[in-house]
Amino acid sequence: MAAKDDGINGVLHGKYELGRQLGHGTFAKVYHARNLQTGRNVAMKVVAKEKVIKAGMMEHLKREISVMKMVNHPNIVELHEVMASKSKVYFVMELVRGGELFSKIEKGKLREDVARSYFQQLISAVDFCHSRGVYHRDLKPENLLLDDEGNLKVTDFGLSAFSDHLRHDGLLHTTCGTPAYVAPEVIGKKGYDGAKADIWSCGVILYVLLAGFLPFQDENVVAMYRKIYRGDFRCPPWFSSDARRLITKLLDPNPDCRITISKIIESSWFKKQTPKSFMFE
Ligand code: ADP
Ligand code: MG
Repeated sequence: MAAKDDGINGVLHGKYELGRQLGHGTFAKVYHARNLQTGRNVAMKVVAKEKVIKAGMMEHLKREISVMKMVNHPNIVELHEVMASKSKVYFVMELVRGGELFSKIEKGKLREDVARSYFQQLISAVDFCHSRGVYHRDLKPENLLLDDEGNLKVTDFGLSAFSDHLRHDGLLHTTCGTPAYVAPEVIGKKGYDGAKADIWSCGVILYVLLAGFLPFQDENVVAMYRKIYRGDFRCPPWFSSDARRLITKLLDPNPDCRITISKIIESSWFKKQTPKSFMFE
């Protein structure tokens, strides 16, 4: 049985039959599963409590659950139920079958209209989260899944924050996320606005979709951080002028000058319509 290495038998809580592994992260493995009562296929994220406790991340795990219950949106992976055993926590989630957006980029850059459609869906999800005071804080192509119809679904709220976690100065103070996608002010440790930091990560994602490579790269992490701080990147020649303009506003190293979601939505690059048929060419 696929999930034996987790100490799980083939059938979980007499309700879910576990199948093949779909993916993994730092604390979790995600499996295909089937609800034996309804026949419905789901994704089962299995989190090892011990690892989470050792890393001092139990609060994050609890937050991940409460956030996922709150954010019901067509571009966010739906959480059906949460179960727990002595050693594990199980997230029963909507199954997203098309894999990670990451694997699309591994094959090379995307066409501008295809990238636009994904970016529009990403912004729709992020806008929804922010309107509810939720900041994802780990937006990257590995946490963006695609369904059979080319719809994008944001997942992994394991590092997310609520706006009530802001300190008296109104700013978040935890450094988290993945280096290449992290905003300069998050590295800076002076406190940051979670919404603006998410917008920066969306800018890195848009760049990667259009370029096929990262805007800020260096084998040395310190050198990479320096580039992020300075907003030191170049757009490849194939970016359209509208795309360039938007990316430059998204990747503004000064969070106070960075574009807001409402302005992103108004921008001429964002507003163009993408025929759905393009997604499958
Ligand atoms: P972690 O918090 O450990 O990073 P994630 O929630 O990101 O775990 O899940 C790890 C991987 O499992 C994802 O990158 C993705 O490949 C896969 N995965 C997660 N959720 C789903 C889902 N609902 N449907 C299909 N695959 C999923
Ligand atoms: Mg993840």
